[in-house]
Amino acid sequence: MDKLINFNQTDITAPLLARLHKTVPKPMRIMEVCGTHTMAIQRSGLPAVLPPEIELISGPGCPVCVTAASHINAMVDLAFQEKTQLVIFGDLFRVPGNNGSLADARAGGGKINIVYSPMDALIIARNNPLDEIIFIGIGFETTSPAIAATIIAARRRNIKNFSVFSTCKCLMPALTALFADDTVEIDGLICPGHVSTIIGTEAYEVFRTKFHLPCVITGFETADLLLGLNMISSQIINKEAKIENAYPRAVSTHGNKRALKMIDEIFEPVASNWRGLGNIDKSGLKIRSEYEEFDSETRFNIELKDEKEINGCRCGDILKGKLKPDQCHLFGQKCSPTNPVGPCMVSSEGSCAALYQYGRKIIRQPDHE
Ligand code: SF4
Repeated sequence: MDKLINFNQTDITAPLLARLHKTVPKPMRIMEVCGTHTMAIQRSGLPAVLPPEIELISGPGCPVCVTAASHINAMVDLAFQEKTQLVIFGDLFRVPGNNGSLADARAGGGKINIVYSPMDALIIARNNPLDEIIFIGIGFETTSPAIAATIIAARRRNIKNFSVFSTCKCLMPALTALFADDTVEIDGLICPGHVSTIIGTEAYEVFRTKFHLPCVITGFETADLLLGLNMISSQIINKEAKIENAYPRAVSTHGNKRALKMIDEIFEPVASNWRGLGNIDKSGLKIRSEYEEFDSETRFNIELKDEKEINGCRCGDILKGKLKPDQCHLFGQKCSPTNPVGPCMVSSEGSCAALYQYGRKIIRQPDHE
């Protein structure tokens, strides 16, 4: 059998993996809710060498994947308004809505710019004074501070032809809603490393008190993931529910207060529609009325219309941890990264894309030495 994974025996990963094989006595379902974790897990090949008792499932932690089709539809409509230019992160470009994707909109004449930083939208606004520049705000607490900073900069620089269509979301209300659903069976949670740098470890206290859910915040290297899995499996075995931090080099107890303050200055929490999870109270970020001139929703009278499910796509169930990507009958057949049917196959953090890219070729090895 091909040895696709060759852990370096001098590395810390080998003893961490061996310890897991020695100590995990019973089946356990562990959810990772960060899309970067999903990709890191598949890229490392861990699913092929972990004890078979450990089942890893992905949650709603990919911001592009959880963006509802109604929002994508509104973005496509905006792209066709006269004298508008959209500015987006690349992940969003090929996500299908009910009337096509933004890639289709660009092919049909819409002006769409792909950038790495929201601040680039201000340069585009300066260089195109006769156009309305609309930045599509998408992301969780990790991205929202940069978008908030861009709005503050736009006001300071007196840029009038710039606004933000905010589909930004807060992860905690969505996770709270997910764990309150009795049909979702999870024994432990790998908390998102990036979001945790902003919200801090204390934000997860509710999971301990309300759901008695073991939580470990961890980083993205293979050794980080294995350390986190060791800590979380120990909690599950010992019937504990603690918030443990395996990523102290980046995550503190209170998080990044400056970033949180910036989010609070620009945005207010409102109900938001999540793909698969539905409408969740206080889970979206809307631009406050004090900064209304930068809110595309009021500036362009954006109305979110009813959406239709994309034919046969099971992204909603995958985002709730109820289905694995290869249990969708379209996976690898009609749906692939070159021909994606749903957002989980488009995004670089989507579970379907991660499994397609890295997981399909990995064969579980019979014995770990
Ligand atoms: Fe949707 Fe494609 Fe994933 Fe199926 S494989 S859930 S169609 S993205």
